[in-house]
Amino acid sequence: MKFGGTSVGSAQRIKNLVPLINKGEQKIVVLSAMSGTTNLLVDISVSLYSKDLLKLKQQIDELDQRYKKVIDELFSKKDSIISANELLAEHLNFINLFTLDLFTANEEKAILAQGELLSTALLHLYMIEQNISSVLMPALEFMRIDESEEPEVLFIKKMISKTMEQFGDENLFITQGYICRNSFGEIDNLKRGGSDYTATLIGAAVNAAEIQIWTDIDGLHNNDPRIVEKTFAVTELSFDEAAELAYFGAKILHPTCVLPAKKENIPVRLLNTMQPTATGTIISNKPAPDRITAIAAKDNLTAIKIKSARMLLAYGFLRAVFEVFERYKTPIDMISTSEVAVSLTIDNDKHLEEIIGELEQFGLVEVDKNQTIICIVGTFGADKQGYASRIFDSLKNIPIRMISYGGSENNISLLVNSDLKKKALVSLNKGLF
Ligand code: ADP
Ligand code: ASP
Ligand code: MG
Repeated sequence: MKFGGTSVGSAQRIKNLVPLINKGEQKIVVLSAMSGTTNLLVDISVSLYSKDLLKLKQQIDELDQRYKKVIDELFSKKDSIISANELLAEHLNFINLFTLDLFTANEEKAILAQGELLSTALLHLYMIEQNISSVLMPALEFMRIDESEEPEVLFIKKMISKTMEQFGDENLFITQGYICRNSFGEIDNLKRGGSDYTATLIGAAVNAAEIQIWTDIDGLHNNDPRIVEKTFAVTELSFDEAAELAYFGAKILHPTCVLPAKKENIPVRLLNTMQPTATGTIISNKPAPDRITAIAAKDNLTAIKIKSARMLLAYGFLRAVFEVFERYKTPIDMISTSEVAVSLTIDNDKHLEEIIGELEQFGLVEVDKNQTIICIVGTFGADKQGYASRIFDSLKNIPIRMISYGGSENNISLLVNSDLKKKALVSLNKGLF
C-alpha cells in the first residue's frame, strides 16, 4: 500500500491511515514525504547551492514549524513527543551541516531524502504509541539502482525477503518511497513522484496479491482533472493503457511505475484516501474493451526535424540519425517520417546543441521548443475504424505539429505547441467523451 503526499499530509491524515493499514493480512506500507516537503527541500537545496544562508534559515525554520505542529497534533504521550522532537532535530541538524561544505548534486539527493525518512519515522512512532506492532524497513538498505539508473530487481528482492524473514510473524512493514541508493552506494532517488515506482517494485519483488496506490483522487480520470472540468474515473485499465498514460503525463502515476507490476502480472489498484470506499481504478492484464479510454499530456518536449534529399530511397539514413541520439543517451518519444524528412521529439534537451551539430551533417535541421504531446489512449488496433476522424474532428481548430498513429495499438499521439495544450485537452474532452 503506497500513500502519497496528501495522504500523509497532516497529523489527522496520518491518524486516518491506521484503520486502513492495520487490517489482518501482512502488508508493506510505502510512504511519500508529507505534501509540500519535497518541494521545500528542493528550495533548501537551491539556497545551499547559492549559499543564501538567510533564506536557508527561513526555509529550515518553516520546515521546523510545520513538523512541530504535526508532532503536537499527532502524539499524546510524553515519551512519543520527546522522541518525535529528537527525530525532527536530527533531520534538521543533518540539513544544517551542509552549510559547512561544498554543496553538490550528491548532497542535494541526501537532502531530498529527508522528507520520506521523516514521514515514515513519524508513522512508526505513532504506531508504537498506539501499541500496534510494525517494523520500519529502511529503503536505503534494499532499494538500489544501477549505473543506468535502472532498479536492481534481484538485489531488491533478496534484501526485502531477508528483512521480512528476520521478522517472520510481523504483519506490518513501513518503508520510504522515492529514495534509494545508486551504484556508488550514495543516496539517490527514483525521480519526482517516485514513491509509486517504489511501491510497484516492492509489490513485484514480494509477489504481492495486489499493489494499492492511495492518493487524493478516486482513481485515474479520463483526462487531466487539473486542466479539464467534468472528468471521471476510469474503473478498469489494462497494464498497457495505464503504462502509456503514466508515461505520457497522467500525474497520478509515476512514468515507469506500471512496468514492474505488468511484468509480474500483479494488479494495481488506485484508491482515494479521502474516500476509501470509492471504487477507484483497477489496472490488470484484462484486455480493455473497445473504447477511447483517456487522454494525457506531456510537456517540455523539443521537436527536431531533419530534412534531407539523401533520405529518399536510401537505407541506413534513420539508423545514422538514431545513433546520434544514442551517443548522447537521449531517448526519443515520438517520431514521424516522410520520404524526405523525419521529425522526432525529445524530453531531455541536455545535449541538444551537440545533437543538432551532428544532425546538420545530414541536412537541414529545424528545432521547436515548448511542445506538448497529447496522448489519446484506447483500443486502436489496425481493424478499428472511426477513431482518428473523431479525434481530428475534435481538434479541427488546433494546429497540429506531428501525428503518430499505428505505433502502438493503445495510443494515438499528437504534438501541439504547449500554449494550445489546454484548448486541445478541453476540445478532445468534448469531442470524445
Ligand atoms: P500523490 O502525492 O498521492 O502521489 P499526485 O499529486 O502525484 O499524488 O497524483 C495525484 C494527482 O494527479 C491528482 O490530484 C490529479 O490532480 C493529478 N492527475 C493528473 N492527471 C490525472 C488523471 N488522468 N487522473 C487522475 N489524477 C490525475
Ligand atoms: N516525495 C517525492 C516527490 O514529491 C516522491 C513522491 O511523492 O512520490 O516527488
Ligand atoms: Mg505522485
